[in-house]
Amino acid sequence: PKYVYRFEEGNKDQKDLLGGKGANLAEMNKLGLPVPPGFTITTDACRAYLKDNKVPEEMTVQVTKALREVEDAVGRQLGAADDPLLVSVRSGAKFSMPGMMETVLNVGLNDKSVEGLAKIANNDRFAWDSYRRLIQMFGKTVQDIDGDLFSDALDNMKKIRGVKLDTDLNTSDLKELTAQFKEIVATETGKPFPQEPRVQLDMAIEAVFRSWNSERAQIYRRRERIPHNLGTAVNIVTMVFGNMGDDSGTGVSFTRDPSTGRPGVYGDILMNAQGEDVVAGIRNTETLKDLERHDKKSYDELIEIMRRLETHYQDMCDLEFTIERGKLWMLQVRVGKRTAAAAFRIATQLVDEGLITTDEALTRVTGEQLQNLMFPMFDDASKPQPFTKGMPASPGAAVGKIVFDNDAAEASANAGVPCILVRRETNPDDLRGMVAAAGVLTSRGGKTSHAAVVARGMGKTAVVGAETIVVDQAARTMTVGDQVLEEGTEISIDGGTGEIFLGAVPVKDSPVTTYLAQGLDAGLAAADNDDDKDLIRSVDRIMTHADRVRKLLVRTNADTPTDTQRALEFGAEGIGLCRTEHMFLGDRRPYVERLILSPEGSKERQDALDALEPLQKGDFKEMLKIMDGKHMTVRLIDPPLHEFLPDLVTLEVKDAVTRAKGETPSEADLHMLAAVRRMHEANPMLGLRGVRLGIYLPGLFKMQMRALVEAACELKADGMDPQPEIMVPLIGSIRELQIVRDEAEDVIKTTQEKFGVKFDIPVGCMIELPRAAMTAETIAKEADFFSFGTNDLTQTTWGFSRDDVEGVFFPQYIEAGIFGVSPFESIDTHGVGRVVAEGVKRGRSTKPEMPMGVCGEHGGDPISIHFFHRVGLNYVSCSPFRVPVARLEAGRAAV
Ligand code: ADP
Ligand code: MG
Ligand code: MG
Repeated sequence: PKYVYRFEEGNKDQKDLLGGKGANLAEMNKLGLPVPPGFTITTDACRAYLKDNKVPEEMTVQVTKALREVEDAVGRQLGAADDPLLVSVRSGAKFSMPGMMETVLNVGLNDKSVEGLAKIANNDRFAWDSYRRLIQMFGKTVQDIDGDLFSDALDNMKKIRGVKLDTDLNTSDLKELTAQFKEIVATETGKPFPQEPRVQLDMAIEAVFRSWNSERAQIYRRRERIPHNLGTAVNIVTMVFGNMGDDSGTGVSFTRDPSTGRPGVYGDILMNAQGEDVVAGIRNTETLKDLERHDKKSYDELIEIMRRLETHYQDMCDLEFTIERGKLWMLQVRVGKRTAAAAFRIATQLVDEGLITTDEALTRVTGEQLQNLMFPMFDDASKPQPFTKGMPASPGAAVGKIVFDNDAAEASANAGVPCILVRRETNPDDLRGMVAAAGVLTSRGGKTSHAAVVARGMGKTAVVGAETIVVDQAARTMTVGDQVLEEGTEISIDGGTGEIFLGAVPVKDSPVTTYLAQGLDAGLAAADNDDDKDLIRSVDRIMTHADRVRKLLVRTNADTPTDTQRALEFGAEGIGLCRTEHMFLGDRRPYVERLILSPEGSKERQDALDALEPLQKGDFKEMLKIMDGKHMTVRLIDPPLHEFLPDLVTLEVKDAVTRAKGETPSEADLHMLAAVRRMHEANPMLGLRGVRLGIYLPGLFKMQMRALVEAACELKADGMDPQPEIMVPLIGSIRELQIVRDEAEDVIKTTQEKFGVKFDIPVGCMIELPRAAMTAETIAKEADFFSFGTNDLTQTTWGFSRDDVEGVFFPQYIEAGIFGVSPFESIDTHGVGRVVAEGVKRGRSTKPEMPMGVCGEHGGDPISIHFFHRVGLNYVSCSPFRVPVARLEAGRAAV
């Protein structure tokens, strides 16, 4: 195979094969920009190397050929004694992984060619400095020698000479340092520093290949969800020198400000320096503007090139360049990384400049970026050193006093004192505390842990899996190393970076959220500087366009008036999922217990139902009022019964303790224990829940439906426009739906007659079991709509019990590449997605116009939203905070 491409042969669309750096070097070469001659070894070669642990012979031959062509082009030979060609050996993968892999400069220098370089450059110091850099870099990255050995020797030399800066060392110092470095190499490897230029080159190439699998590269890829099997390309580039004197220099620049998106060119330069000096912060850099003073010709040329590159890439670019004795060389270009704010501003700037269409502008921003802009933020300027770090799970900036349980969190919130709930991990019982807290911090669990998922859903800042923290629930302390923080200590957590700070880091509100909730004028008023105002206008233009082009409606999952109100402000077009189970908690729990425990047909049971009905009706009425004129899909009660009963183990312990004391347990206690034992399920997720519960406990669904229909009829009679829909959960068979539907129609008919009103109340069902999807053409006969419950559908299609798998073996599954991301986070399009598609197809074969949507976590997940668009759903429903994200992503899916 062809393993080596000269820069003349490639182009920017070959990132898979040539990596980003190589593809873009080739592209710049094609554009006629000044790129030092060189070639790229493909990612194929890297993969072959990593597989066999050996460089393919064909590659070696092709490298020889390409190298000779470069030598001919520049008229010099690699490492030749008199006038040596030197090269850099640079990593460059498909996706940029800044600083994660290796680059070796000055390859080709040895004891002889260093003299030649000195003569040609007429600069001994420069030549010896280059040589010692090579040995240092080569020793560390290619030969795996502890880098401290070199830097210690360097520091020592500076100390002996009484100087502060590397640049203060003179030629003889550097010669001596070089000798010391060679000594280090000899001692550490048992062999002298390789003098043969081609051996240096081959060793460096292999080192770059290997660096693909370095630990930090692997960690970076996991975090950025970059597949592990891509491999890196290697670029061999003729060295040009920015450290040849004051007419030389090096720098990085951006065609727009990557942090704010402000138009204009930005960059840092260093005169008389080599590339890494800029990033390494050895000396203070100057700004790009200063280059105009140092070297007007190069500056003008660079500005011109930046303009050309932006036009060519139709996007903001960042680039690396070096000036050797007044001659400008381009060393790298790529479409630049940018902050969320910059992404929005740049997208609309490019539209205004006629470089891209508004449709394309939509593709330049993401829902995640919008989400980032929606959270309150820490003022970067006043961020201290982090105390420790965890995984960023749900963005935002939260400040508060540490609390360790629900009661403390609620007490704190009630007293108006913001708090951070710190737990080893969270479970559904911690919901109260999570709601009350300003932020959530856990020492265990990953990005799909309960804490993370729930926090994201609520738009609550969360940092999870901060493994350095030891949480002692009983002592009410959290400890890192030997530092012990007591309850009440103030901390700050950054859900965007995972950083944890001691004390209160100042935060500011996001004007973007104000805009999304209250409109353009309010957003502009909330922005306190021109950059933010410009950002608000950009977000507004992009959101407006997204709303115009999207095919998917965006509804919300809400079951409280507060959530409903918020979702409406954020642009929700109805409620796609109103869960009714929370309406059974709190002080209503005793009724529910009685309902479950009393015998069928008993008066007790009827009394419990009668007591619950007006309460439910009140809830529904309040929400229907807020949703006036918009759909509100109410799901009949779904969770397993045991969630409403006391915990079995607790009861058993109580029973045992009573007996141990020689006392007899009370009648009531015995009755409860027996009932809880009877109801106990080994597999509650697959047990008595959803429609099964409705059929098992006659009267329950009917009570809920009557409460809903009566609430709606009363509003209708008052001249309002309620649009409730009844949704039946966990349907597997058409017969189940028929039974509930008959009941529903009966309730609707009698109630509407009683109120003297008449309007349509659709009855539909969830599709969340594979059997339902596979028989959807039948079920559709009894359903007015479908709502795909992809959480349960994922559980039942994979056979995963969500609560049992995520924290336990998912990390290994992701590690092993079984999936790149938890299927509960992004829909598994190949498996679960196919079941959805099949359900849509079958349902539509019976009722072509039937409305179909999705509710659950996936409804707010960008990748999943694009999938739902493709399979032709009518709406997605997601938590209130995800509504703007879903609107944007639905728009992006449509262009
Ligand atoms: P990274 O991917 O970490 O940015 P690079 O391969 O871009 O690594 O190399 C780092 C720096 O080394 C570059 O920014 C550039 O300044 C310098 N460099 C690389 N190749 C050359 C070269 N052929 N001539 C001069 N400097 C180079
Ligand atoms: Mg670079
Ligand atoms: Mg479900």
